[in-house]
Amino acid sequence: MNVLVLNCGSSSLKYQLIDMNTKSVLAKGICEKIGIEGASLTHKPTGKDNLVVTEPMPDHKAAVKLVMNALLDAKYGVINNISEIQAVGHRVLHGGKYYSGSIIINDDVKRVIRECFDLGPLHNPANLIGIEACEALMGNIPQVAVFDTAFHQTMPVKAYLYALPYEYYEKYAIRKYGFHGTSHWYVSGRAIDFGKLDPEKSKVIVAHLGNGASISAVVGGKCVDTSMGLTPLEGLIMGTRSGDVDPAVVQYIANKEQKSVDEVLNILNKKSGVLGVSGVSSDFRDLEAAANAGNERAQIAFDGFIYRVAKYIGSYVAAMNGVDAIAFTAGLGENNGAARQAICDYLTYLGIELDTEKNKIRGEEVVISTASSKVKVMVIPTNEELAIAMETVKLVK
Ligand code: AMP
Repeated sequence: MNVLVLNCGSSSLKYQLIDMNTKSVLAKGICEKIGIEGASLTHKPTGKDNLVVTEPMPDHKAAVKLVMNALLDAKYGVINNISEIQAVGHRVLHGGKYYSGSIIINDDVKRVIRECFDLGPLHNPANLIGIEACEALMGNIPQVAVFDTAFHQTMPVKAYLYALPYEYYEKYAIRKYGFHGTSHWYVSGRAIDFGKLDPEKSKVIVAHLGNGASISAVVGGKCVDTSMGLTPLEGLIMGTRSGDVDPAVVQYIANKEQKSVDEVLNILNKKSGVLGVSGVSSDFRDLEAAANAGNERAQIAFDGFIYRVAKYIGSYVAAMNGVDAIAFTAGLGENNGAARQAICDYLTYLGIELDTEKNKIRGEEVVISTASSKVKVMVIPTNEELAIAMETVKLVK
């Protein structure tokens, strides 16, 4: 069975076509900078040359079309006909209170995904566009939604309950849900296997650092805390999201700028983070280039991002009363050695020592700490696609 996995992020679309009989990737790729200047598709068919298409992509529908063209391309394609794809698995951000597991997509599921737009304003709309683009392009083939919120369901109440009047939890299910669950599940599992950690007792911190960024604390393979909340807005400073701010800021901006709460939340989601602070870009590569060229605000944004990550790691060491391993993953976590080093520079009190040579490696599973480091630090490329494909096969069969 060939499964197409679509992972529509806020400004990216990652895809893999996986032959699940052999678990081999037939083709994979990424559309980057969707909706911003300089959009491109990088298509990597196994055993063939790569294809790079630089073309404006106003939204995720345009991106899905380009992906289909690449998969069917006479030279760079890996299938002759769309019917060679038997199922599609979608990473879907928020299942609200409705879903604690994966599900085959029908009109009801789409309605719930739409109902949860408020809870995942950057991703749920992109997920739905991806689902509807597949329906338009691929007809009736089964599609599965794998929710980002599922892995974090093991959090204890002391971690997920906000200190608000309890009735809001009872009436509206307002609580911390957490996101990037498929990634935190996969990476913490790989960290345990690859790092030869105790599967029952190990204390692992997963730092998923991409355009969206979150951290989780995982004890014995089960999530006990995570940085994102009711929505993905809480926690770390991100590409365009503010992460933690005093909630009173919302009222203050609303009053000063004569804006509604919705408008201010839109600013916190889409115009804040390293983009808002630097005024340069939400993309860390642009940010680093600007900081290296002497742009002070770009440097302030980068330093603030690193500082927040280090503080969260410290708080999760306290929450777990120790830590055996820290695993870096996602775009920045997998590729940016300078960011990993800067974070670990805050953590020498834990006896952490990075091997500077190993820390130069990009996008490979590798232990980047020295043999004498008291905590194992690893880079674990996330493989949400394989995890989603496995869920999809399970449901479709
Ligand atoms: P993601 O959301 O996981 O796709 O990650 C996107 C973020 O990772 C962007 O801010 C990129 O700048 C950063 N990123 C992706 N690839 C690289 C790379 N090769 N080097 C440095 N940063 C990267």
